[in-house]
Amino acid sequence: MKYRTLALLNTRTLSIPISTDQITSLQSLITYLKEHSPFYREILTNIHPENIRNATDLAGLPLTTKEDLQKQGQDFLCVPRTDIIEYTSTSGTLGSPVTVPLTEKDLQRLAENEYGSFVCADGKPADVYQLMLTLDRQFMAGMAYYSGIRKLGAGLIRLGPGVPSLQWETIGRLQPTAIVAVPSFIVKLIQYAEEHHIDIHSSSVRKAICIGENIRNPDFTLNIIGRKIKEAWNIDLYSTYASTEMQTAFTECGQGRGGHLQENLLIAEILDDQNQPVGPRTPGELTITTLRVEGMPLLRYKTGDICMFFDEPCACGRHSIRLSPILGRKAQMIKFKGTTLYPPALFDLLNEMEEVKDYVVEVYSNEWGLDEVLLHILPKEATEECHGKIKAYLQARLRVSPHVRYVEAPELHKMQFPEASRKIIKFIDKRK
Ligand SMILES: [Zn+2]
Repeated sequence: MKYRTLALLNTRTLSIPISTDQITSLQSLITYLKEHSPFYREILTNIHPENIRNATDLAGLPLTTKEDLQKQGQDFLCVPRTDIIEYTSTSGTLGSPVTVPLTEKDLQRLAENEYGSFVCADGKPADVYQLMLTLDRQFMAGMAYYSGIRKLGAGLIRLGPGVPSLQWETIGRLQPTAIVAVPSFIVKLIQYAEEHHIDIHSSSVRKAICIGENIRNPDFTLNIIGRKIKEAWNIDLYSTYASTEMQTAFTECGQGRGGHLQENLLIAEILDDQNQPVGPRTPGELTITTLRVEGMPLLRYKTGDICMFFDEPCACGRHSIRLSPILGRKAQMIKFKGTTLYPPALFDLLNEMEEVKDYVVEVYSNEWGLDEVLLHILPKEATEECHGKIKAYLQARLRVSPHVRYVEAPELHKMQFPEASRKIIKFIDKRK
């Protein structure tokens, strides 16, 4: 008996807990996949849903990778083509884009997911959200926010990305209470307001849902971008993280202590390099199993995103686990002269430097096949003094200096916004 308790405790502390409702949903998912998915039918031949009863059984199921999706996308589809309503797509930051088709039921699930997200981020029917992002180009998130806010019964202003002048003019005219935007764009909005004498403190905006970039450090304190926003504009910030493949978001509550898992929509695992579950507060790869997805459900899909989970109850009253900010993409890990780092850590460093107006980080392989880092930097001033300051700062913070190339605004803009890109490019991977 003593033994048994110990084993139970071990499972609880070693991996993300899985509820009985999730197990039931997982069993139905396996039955569904074996029936409808050509890809999973093959790899689940010897798996019987009734034998999956806990986290350990889950850990014994086969994994799915991004490569599987890129190579055999069609084989993941569980419904006839005529049932597909929306064809969404990943941005293709890493390799070829993946198409994720959604049925009517999937679109409803997506709306329910974002409804849950916005409620978690203190959203109310009386709120009015200004969406500073695209709803086009097969971008799932834009559509998800839109349908989630509709379900919440709040107001919507679909303004699209960029153009600070138009954003401010609309804020003045339609008085939104909240904005949904990329954090670095919020910094640009603030800069624009300062340059054009717009009093941001008297604006109607009270909160921002921050998408696409981190606003916090792994210990949940605000990172440089988060601080820049908060110091200039006292609005509430909520971070949200999602991906097209998982069709589900992790969103922060008012406590700002990580994105809450929506247990009825997703099973989450954090795995180490040997695909074994890691405990709380330990970095690993987020691996997800979608629940209640009809068109293209995924079983134990390795997202490539590195993060940690936290299982102590949140002060907001929710008991679901929370995810740390994404530390980086696994494939983007840089082995740099004896240290390993992820691009977001370099972004933080560059964001902090007053002398750096903007940048693109490039990584490439040198003649020995090792990673080299090249920073394309738009300096505040094109002077020797400014360049010297940047160099000294990088040396102090990184111990080894990356290559630096100073560029002018038009060239950098071209690098950041290549044709057909849906979002701003801050990282270029030229490694072989
Ligand atoms: Zn909470």
